[in-house]
Amino acid sequence: MPELPEVETIVRGLQGPLQGLVIESIELFSTSMLGEVTADDFIAALTDSRIKKIERRGKYILFKLQKGQKSFTLAVHLRMTGNLIYCSKRPMTRPRHTRAVFLFHNESFLFFTDVRKFGSFRILDDNQKTIFLSCLGVEPLSPAFSEQTLQKLIEGKKTSIKAFLLNQKYICGIGNIYADEILYRSSLYPEKPLPKLSKKEIANLWHNIREVLMEGIKAGGTSTRDYRNAAGEKGDYQKHLLVYGKAGQKCRRCCSIIQRIKVAGRGTYYCPGCQPN
Ligand SMILES: [Zn+2]
Repeated sequence: MPELPEVETIVRGLQGPLQGLVIESIELFSTSMLGEVTADDFIAALTDSRIKKIERRGKYILFKLQKGQKSFTLAVHLRMTGNLIYCSKRPMTRPRHTRAVFLFHNESFLFFTDVRKFGSFRILDDNQKTIFLSCLGVEPLSPAFSEQTLQKLIEGKKTSIKAFLLNQKYICGIGNIYADEILYRSSLYPEKPLPKLSKKEIANLWHNIREVLMEGIKAGGTSTRDYRNAAGEKGDYQKHLLVYGKAGQKCRRCCSIIQRIKVAGRGTYYCPGCQPN
């Protein structure tokens, strides 16, 4: 599933070519991403709107749109296998698993592809947007996320550190891959309960959350499976993964064998040497 670095890479790739473009028409090959909105209503709402800006919040891509006097937002969540691919002219064939096509007035295209069909599109007016985004926690790469912020978030909570990192209400944007890499770099056992973290461990964790996510962005995201950037290209961070997906392989730091366990219902990779229980 695309996490913060992948979504950030997509947003950066779309912002340049899409900003200022007007949606001329929309073709839908599925309505699974629309929730309760009908295809006709979705198309009517977005057709002739201008893309003012594209932003990321957590794992959401936010298209800020303007139609006449009305401004609103299309919030896209890619879930498991969604991709947004921009083509400056009509390709010979549609990408595989295309669920929606946006055609712009300059005859460029944005394709939404989604193998598993879990992706979602939500149209939000400014009020709905405020409520919608208030459910998300702090942005880990924003100035609002300080060492003290993390300390405060952890205070009084009893869950495991991995469950904490995955909870989008506390810190948004971290998913299964980056959580495992962050915990490995921090030498923390994924099931370690939050009350057992020392101040020094929290400081180290804070540093590694930011460092790992920034490295992920720099590498253009992780393409273990379906993820592609806005140009349809793979990311590079899978080459830098040290524990995720490495069960049975030797740890590069201590030569212990990487293990896979379940934590918070998710397959979790860790090194028993570097991250002792
Ligand atoms: Zn190790």
